[in-house]
Amino acid sequence: MDATILYVEGVTVSFDGFKAIDDLNLYIDAGELRCIIGPNGAGKTTMMDVITGKTRPDAGSAWFGQRMNLLRMSEAEIAVAGIGRKFQKPTVFENHTVFENLELAMSSNKNVFPTLFASLSSEQCDHIDEVLEIIGLNERVKKEAGVLSHGQKQWLEIGMLLVQKAELLLVDEPVAGMTHQEMDRTAELLKTLAGEQSVIVVEHDMDFVRALESPVTVLH
Ligand code: ADP
Ligand code: MG
Repeated sequence: MDATILYVEGVTVSFDGFKAIDDLNLYIDAGELRCIIGPNGAGKTTMMDVITGKTRPDAGSAWFGQRMNLLRMSEAEIAVAGIGRKFQKPTVFENHTVFENLELAMSSNKNVFPTLFASLSSEQCDHIDEVLEIIGLNERVKKEAGVLSHGQKQWLEIGMLLVQKAELLLVDEPVAGMTHQEMDRTAELLKTLAGEQSVIVVEHDMDFVRALESPVTVLH
């Protein structure tokens, strides 16, 4: 089944008369991995801002699946609906362990919050274990996030989106500042996620883009 999960049509965003995005169309299938490249200032981050409700376009439409009109939803509603965003800089809680970071991310889903301080259900623990496996941090689960390498922090942050059950992940320039080895690991991770989740990656590093082996859209 290749149902379309994201429909962006005719989106235009102007800042003081300057068109940061001009009549953009973008369609993403469920389970697809898509890479977006383009020069600085092409509007890649602005496109993510539109999808996540941070910026409202002057024209066009943006739908998540058939039913959710993203232009009528708040940023918080969009996050709860299942669109997760990873910013360029990792934003993990440095003084908390890897496990606690995942636990806190899970609790930001308000259906889970009331039960958090009792204890996690076995289903929730299983889900955290599963995510730890995917992001390759099971050996580091009791370590404070502050001692992780830059790459490991980025993976933890991706894990935080996964425990929130994001269906569509938006990842902006994930490999800036990573070692080559970490870059390869990140490409593997994002390829693993595709299929279960849809992933849109914005990236400049062409070695990394090639390693993703995904369709590429150029924003210009
Ligand atoms: P990219 O991520 O592709 O490098 P951006 O989406 O950040 O590009 O920016 C696209 C254009 O819009 C740039 O010219 C940028 O200066 C401009 N821009 C982005 N956000 C704002 C804003 N909040 N106010 C004014 N101009 C902005
Ligand atoms: Mg950008």
